[in-house]
Amino acid sequence: MKYVYFSRTEGPCWGVVKGEDVFTLTKPPFDGVDYDGKSLPLNQCKLLAPCMPTKIICVGKNYADHAREMGSEAPGFPVLFMKGLNTLNRPDGAVHAPDFVERLDYEGELGVVIKRKAKSVKAKDFSDYVLGYTCLNDITARDIQKHDGQWTRGKSMDGFCPIGPWVTDEVDPAVLSLTTRLNGKVVQKGETADLITPVPQLLEFITAAMTLEPGDVVATGTPAGVGPMIPGDVVEVEIEGIGVLKNQVI
Ligand code: MG
Repeated sequence: MKYVYFSRTEGPCWGVVKGEDVFTLTKPPFDGVDYDGKSLPLNQCKLLAPCMPTKIICVGKNYADHAREMGSEAPGFPVLFMKGLNTLNRPDGAVHAPDFVERLDYEGELGVVIKRKAKSVKAKDFSDYVLGYTCLNDITARDIQKHDGQWTRGKSMDGFCPIGPWVTDEVDPAVLSLTTRLNGKVVQKGETADLITPVPQLLEFITAAMTLEPGDVVATGTPAGVGPMIPGDVVEVEIEGIGVLKNQVI
């Protein structure tokens, strides 16, 4: 199923996309889908990030080619960091480039949205805990990240995590192609088959340490080709079988 989260006058609502329409739900789909009998055209929905996170857990250097372009080898285990919930941004939300940031980078990534409380999950059982997969842009103030020596400020400025446009369980996370385009030009091209720690093992590693809650997000890392954006640029993260996440820098 393909789930969307969107705003409407009564408040935000979850829905299931079928063709060009959205069939609305009475509650979030984490513990089952309950339709309210209504529908509306998808193109009339103002989409929100399709998640309800208590935390956004990210993995650094999870593709060897990206680790190399950052001047290091892959660390041999997943290096986790977090983005604040203030970073959540809509699928077509504007990304504000603060004027003190000298280098603002895109990082196209596969995002995983968690379905049920997950603690000490075994890799073989990972799919029981996943609502689905989405596109995510781990926007990074690279100069700030390097300057500070740790990543909180550089990774967690307001709006630095666009997610969407929807979350789907209709893909296999092991074999997805990811493409990032900047102003229409391809700048990143990766395959999730090249993830150093793939999704099942990543969920086992994370949930050994912490409980993931329904609606939490895991960002799986970015392939090579990260680079700068300036106001006016349009960045797109496309994942085969999922869709396109498109944001403008302002
Ligand atoms: Mg990243």
